[in-house]
Amino acid sequence: MKCPKCGKEMIAGEMGISANSSIGRSTLFWAPKEVFNRLLPNTLTAKKAVSEGGVQIKIGNGITNNRTAGYICRDCNCVLLDLIK
Ligand SMILES: [Zn+2]
Repeated sequence: MKCPKCGKEMIAGEMGISANSSIGRSTLFWAPKEVFNRLLPNTLTAKKAVSEGGVQIKIGNGITNNRTAGYICRDCNCVLLDLIK
């Protein structure tokens, strides 16, 4: 996998999950920048982000489902995730 920023070869890996994340205390998500600009941080939950066009990033635990695959470029720290459907 080539890094989309610098073109160098990325290193394959998997995403981890913290104990708190597995019981829903924190959830990783992606959202457009304008969503972060428009909503106060304390009102921006993953559910709200998804309703605004964001994507919840489900992190597999490697036990009941596969770990989330990811790639990192060591040169520019760009990370690509291969999300669980
Ligand atoms: Zn790179």
